[in-house]
Amino acid sequence: MTAPALDFDDPIDLADAERGLVGRLEPCVIRDGDGRTVWDVSVFGFLDADCPQTAHPALWRHCRLTRLHGLYEVAEGVYQVRGMDLSNMTIIEGETGILVIDPLLCRETAAAALALYREHRGDRPMRAVFYSHSHADHFGGVRGVLPDDASADGVPIVAPVGFLEHAVSENVVAGPAMARRAAYMYGGLLPTDPAGHIGNGIGQAMSSGTVGLIPPTLLITETGQRETFDGVELVFQLTPGTEAPSEMNFHLPARRVLLVAENASHGVHNVLTPRGAQIRDAAAWARYLTETIRLHSADSDVLLGSHHWPTYGSERLTAYLELQRDAYAYTHDQSVRLMNRGYTGPEIAEALELPPALASCWHVQGFYGSHNNNAKAVYQRYMGWFDGNPSHLWQHPPVEQAVRYVAAIGGADAVLEQADAAHRAGDFRWAAELLNHLLFAEPEHPDARELQARTFEQLAYATDNGPWRSFYLTGALELRDGVRKTPLSLAPDLVAALTTEQIFQAMSVRVDGPRAAAARLVIRWCYTDPDERWTLILANGVLVAHRGEGPHGARPQVTITVSRAVHNEILGLRTTFLDQVVAGTVTIEGDANVLLEFNGYLEEPERSFPIVTP
Ligand SMILES: [Zn+2]
Repeated sequence: MTAPALDFDDPIDLADAERGLVGRLEPCVIRDGDGRTVWDVSVFGFLDADCPQTAHPALWRHCRLTRLHGLYEVAEGVYQVRGMDLSNMTIIEGETGILVIDPLLCRETAAAALALYREHRGDRPMRAVFYSHSHADHFGGVRGVLPDDASADGVPIVAPVGFLEHAVSENVVAGPAMARRAAYMYGGLLPTDPAGHIGNGIGQAMSSGTVGLIPPTLLITETGQRETFDGVELVFQLTPGTEAPSEMNFHLPARRVLLVAENASHGVHNVLTPRGAQIRDAAAWARYLTETIRLHSADSDVLLGSHHWPTYGSERLTAYLELQRDAYAYTHDQSVRLMNRGYTGPEIAEALELPPALASCWHVQGFYGSHNNNAKAVYQRYMGWFDGNPSHLWQHPPVEQAVRYVAAIGGADAVLEQADAAHRAGDFRWAAELLNHLLFAEPEHPDARELQARTFEQLAYATDNGPWRSFYLTGALELRDGVRKTPLSLAPDLVAALTTEQIFQAMSVRVDGPRAAAARLVIRWCYTDPDERWTLILANGVLVAHRGEGPHGARPQVTITVSRAVHNEILGLRTTFLDQVVAGTVTIEGDANVLLEFNGYLEEPERSFPIVTP
């Protein structure tokens, strides 16, 4: 994780990050309609000091750069608002108005970013909005730049093909588990101070305002597609399966500007994000960057990202893209090479050493993604969780394993003694392993909790990776203060964008299989707007949704008729099914008890499950 060859005196990143500053919101604090703070970078003033013992110097330097905020002119008629959310908003001036690429994560920060632009550049009307990819920090603030349907009317909203399905699908099946782990990854529960949250590698923090989504009206379906908006010609490159399943790069030939979304960043990205997601394809990522260089780098003078600061000059941005490409290609190819020599994921991660050109390069350091995790992810993509060793085929689960390890070592006191010795010797990885066994055997052991918290802190202070730091520190926090409750809410726009299949898929993964095992229920589900008729069959603990009448002989025991709009309100937890039945907006024909029984088999996800204890 350490990179001794890094040149801390290299001034170029700071120069690029400060270049073209037009103005700032001072203090950079953004509040919602109720006065609640949703964004505040004024709290990071402590980063002005020299790096303390409680942080890695490379991450400290990086966070100083990501906390810079303001409106920047990056090319003639092209602006970026940076540091006013986790991500960047890019604004292109057209003949009569503006185009906005990536309207940040929430309505409040997007509105503030646009207001900052307009304060300096005038009240130019919106002519088009673009989503570079399907992650919420690049679309969630769209209602801050297109605040109501009237102004959205006729303004094209442009996205890569597959955008809408992927924008919502992450919230459907694994959403609750991912949200819980994201609370660890982004440091949202931590105090903001030199020993706590200092930034997370890709930006300072997640804003906490209102997330929205307006579906795209124009899809980019192929690389090389050219579209003109308000007199500005854009050329697109699709990069599916890289940092997001639906993602694209932008080239503005007339302004010689290249925007590469999150395909290249100042820091290597995650091939497998630790909050949890499907594995990304490092080899495809590298191939697309090669294509980006071939198509556009010679015709570009500035390279922009959806996070971080620009890179200026055709030669420099070409070299930047080549090194970014090589970081993914090297990790992929060398992980596979070692895999084919019999190394397993953790062994590859430990053995993999970057060549000097990469090891000494600031923008491929693991500030957000981690080279260690990425190597394991490449192994997992090809080989899965099993390493081929039969002793790992059927291990005891964590608690049963822990009880046996603690007994084998000689009891809780003996484990604690050895963990304490490891901690004092600086072997924090081993201390954490021993204490984890003790805590899974005896979760309430006060000395084990405290020593593990102090061990996590030492691991946090030593890492140059923002998410690793957040994981360690959040683990320490929860060992001391207990598990924090994560609020359960679904943005109305995201609920509205779910397909009917996705709604029933979300339902099917909430069925409590063991309790529902003996049930056989047939429910007809009718939407009125538009007309849709589905047949849900619950049998053997499995819910299957059939479009239409269902298989031959499936006679519904109960029929539910509801408008999708009302169902959206129910799914978004703004009302209950029962209230809507009473109000008459949901009608039930047939045996209502079947519905009650069905509902009884659906389990609420647990958003505050323990992580560092069983
Ligand atoms: Zn992002």
